[in-house]
Amino acid sequence: MVVICVCQICDDLHETIRIEHPYQYYSIVEQIKTMMQEGILFLIQGNCDFSLIERDIPFLNDVLCHVFMCKSCKCKFELCVETFHGSGGRWEVIHE
Ligand SMILES: [Zn+2]
Repeated sequence: MVVICVCQICDDLHETIRIEHPYQYYSIVEQIKTMMQEGILFLIQGNCDFSLIERDIPFLNDVLCHVFMCKSCKCKFELCVETFHGSGGRWEVIHE
């Protein structure tokens, strides 16, 4: 089942992004941090402190996984990367 979200605020976030390089991950992290500051997204789940993820700091975990929610439509998004083996990760909408 495909859920079509008509939310204007998180419209751009509904595309699945395959993360193959750390810089892609950090670029998404930076976008999310901005959206969190703007009050568009908020963090609802995570296995490490999202605010501590910075480009020049070593990864905090072998797997980094965070779930965010759009404040407006309550859509959830997952950002997961596997850092240890460098197999990458993805940004995707969670369909429940
Ligand atoms: Zn939304």
